[in-house]
Amino acid sequence: MRFHNTLTRKKEEFEPLVRGKVNMYTCGPTVYDFAHIGNLRAYVFSDTIRRLLEHDGYEVRHIKNITDVGHLTEDDLAQGDSGEDKVERRAKAEKKTPEEIARFYEDAFHEDEESMNILPAQFFPRATAHIPHMIRMIQVLIERGHAYEVNGNVFYDVTSFPEYGKLSGNTLHKLKTGARLEEHPDKRNPWDFALWLAAPREHLMKWPSPWGEGYPGWHIECSAMSLEYLGDTLDIHTGGEDHIFPHHEAEIAQSEGTTGKPFSRFFMHERHILVDGQKMSKSKGNFYTLSDIVRKGFSPMDLRLLYLSANYGSQMNFTWDALAQARKNRETLFLAHERLSDAGDKEGQDIVMEAKEAFLSAMRDDLNTPLALSALLGSVNRINAALDKNEAIDTRVARIFLDEALELFGIRFEKKIISDDVQKLIARREQARKDKDFALADSLRDEIAALGVEVRDSVSAKDLPTE
Ligand code: AMP
Ligand code: ZN
Repeated sequence: MRFHNTLTRKKEEFEPLVRGKVNMYTCGPTVYDFAHIGNLRAYVFSDTIRRLLEHDGYEVRHIKNITDVGHLTEDDLAQGDSGEDKVERRAKAEKKTPEEIARFYEDAFHEDEESMNILPAQFFPRATAHIPHMIRMIQVLIERGHAYEVNGNVFYDVTSFPEYGKLSGNTLHKLKTGARLEEHPDKRNPWDFALWLAAPREHLMKWPSPWGEGYPGWHIECSAMSLEYLGDTLDIHTGGEDHIFPHHEAEIAQSEGTTGKPFSRFFMHERHILVDGQKMSKSKGNFYTLSDIVRKGFSPMDLRLLYLSANYGSQMNFTWDALAQARKNRETLFLAHERLSDAGDKEGQDIVMEAKEAFLSAMRDDLNTPLALSALLGSVNRINAALDKNEAIDTRVARIFLDEALELFGIRFEKKIISDDVQKLIARREQARKDKDFALADSLRDEIAALGVEVRDSVSAKDLPTE
């Protein structure tokens, strides 16, 4: 199987370091808000890699972290090391503790992953539970001459790591000639990045350290936790394209600076989802959550199929029409599956075998899911046509292939496709909620439930418990 490796900018044959076993790390959510469907694309992406690896017989150890401290509002832009902690800012706005905010959105994240049929990672380490690991790593980096302390802040000295920039292409040379970064007064070079920041008195999340009370920078948690749970060298590290720089570049500098060994053999990044040509993001306010999708009568599996209809390495423009097309495709697959379930065995396996070959080789070619999907839909059309015309087709083999393909795609088989009637009831209930006619909304919920569909309303942070 071949994957595109951001490190080498090439498609490469994938072989894990230890035969049959794959160590994989995925940068998980910063838990200060609900995930939007861009975030979920990133997790479906790593889940698709994992499903393919497991399908092909690898044992995958998958770690996905929970960022509940240290991710600052300006971190994604550059290495300003300025801005507020995202979780803490939300906590102050909601008059909650950072822990309440983090646990609430962490639970919501797990629910979303479950709805999207994403296989749970073996472990979801929280940053706040690994402060000692981070402190230890920072100490090693100071000892090895990669980091320095000033006024209780510790920074990574990027000039001490000649390979800095190998992932993103943002080499020191380029950074020096590029736009000026906002300068932290304690930094030797503006492009150095924070490992540890001294906490001002009013800061809520802070821990004692050899450099005084403070809190970790965003990048160090992933280096510390991947070392703890997966060892020196990962087989695959995944994330979204915005992680390439500065986050993953910084992780490489930290991890390789600590162990002296390669940090990850493959880096794989999915590109962003756009809305009207712009990145879907919380700061722009142009985002949808899974509840928005479900409220419009779509299944999370429609969204999953929509993701798979595009290459992970291409940006994807989200439209409701495209989602409706994905739903049609899902219905086609499910209907074909139902048709096959009751039929007996017959001759004629080659149509299925050809499709299976095309499907698997597309998946193994850097997860070419659009090609795999078209092979799958093509085979379903041929199977349907053969059944219609009573031609020979081995329905048992066809069903096994369909099951295998849906499993690899992570499309959970849902017998119930929400009918138009139910959708109308859902829309009426939405209107009732908007009109604050809660008695009507409740009775419509019961009516919908009687038809076998459960409606769940997304909770907003306003509904968080106050104690
Ligand atoms: P965050 O919770 O902000 O750390 O982001 C979680 C994941 O979502 C990261 O892997 C991001 O790269 C990814 N991500 C953020 N925005 C988008 C987007 N618009 N499309 C796809 N992935 C995204
Ligand atoms: Zn990370």
